Amino acid sequence: MNPTLGFIGLGNMGHPMATRLRDAHPTLIVQDVRLEHAQAFAGSSNAVATSPRELADHVDIVFMSLPTPAAVLAVVEGDQGLAMGARAQCVIDLSTTGPTTAIKAAQLLASHGMAFMDAPVSGGVTGATKGTLAIMASGAKADFERAKPLLACLGKVFLVGDKPGQGQAMKLLNNQLSAMAMAATAEVMVLGVKAGLDPVLMLDVLNAGSGRNTATTDKFPRSVLDRSFNFGFRAVLLHKDVRLCKQFADEFEVPFSIGSAVDKVWENAAAQLGDEDFTRIVELMEREAKVTIHGDGMARQG
Ligand code: NAD
Repeated sequence: MNPTLGFIGLGNMGHPMATRLRDAHPTLIVQDVRLEHAQAFAGSSNAVATSPRELADHVDIVFMSLPTPAAVLAVVEGDQGLAMGARAQCVIDLSTTGPTTAIKAAQLLASHGMAFMDAPVSGGVTGATKGTLAIMASGAKADFERAKPLLACLGKVFLVGDKPGQGQAMKLLNNQLSAMAMAATAEVMVLGVKAGLDPVLMLDVLNAGSGRNTATTDKFPRSVLDRSFNFGFRAVLLHKDVRLCKQFADEFEVPFSIGSAVDKVWENAAAQLGDEDFTRIVELMEREAKVTIHGDGMARQG
């Protein structure tokens, strides 16, 4: 029999992921601390739960896509938390919240007889919409086998470990590289344009050469050259990921000098950008360099 599904956190990523799950399993129940986000997904239907606990009273498997470690723990713990739900058997966390939070959530849920899997995702809003995310799952093999067909609605599924937190560890490493590439690409693009190079031609060359990365192939062409800055990821959340990775490296006493520099760059950017899209880091660098990158190939001195 098909399990009944629940989804908590209908934000930039949650909304399109829940949409894909609902396409496959029409009776999806949702919950969000911002009722308008839940209603934007479910309309005025009775598929909106008033608390995580109420949701977990009515479904077998719960997915979550939440912004921070604190939000994940708030949803799991407490009198109205998921752990108190009567029916749910498994909670799958698609958020990026680091290994420590995954281990805490897994322990708490296990003490209430619920399984937990961390399954953070990479691929942004486009990947969430198209079902082409990379999904980094960890958890017990039996739970994974049960969740796999559901996760496959969202993208390519990798089982990276059998312990809670191993999926989160993999995701932090992925995002560290992605955040580093975005900041470094912004820096070299601003320098190149100020030195008189055509930004469109620069990207063509980088993408044919060894400088290619997801900022040159995707983020710049899609959200920077046209000045839309609408990639769909808040700067504060990217800095959260980079900071979690630094804490992860510190915990394992691994040298992290590049990671520390990247943390400082994104700390500064997040302080200025807040909830704005992370691609606007380009504007911060442009302002300092007194130049603007335009997709029509023209550099404009500021
Ligand atoms: P978002 O801020 O757009 O959405 C988060 C949603 O969670 C919002 O609807 C918010 O109201 C809800 N929420 C917050 N606290 C809650 C609580 N206590 N109870 C119930 N609902 C609550 O964030 P997002 O961009 O969708 O990211 C979600 C997660 O996915 C984050 O951990 C992020 O790092 C990760 N992620 C994001 C992207 C991206 O490109 N946006 C890509 C990969 C992974």
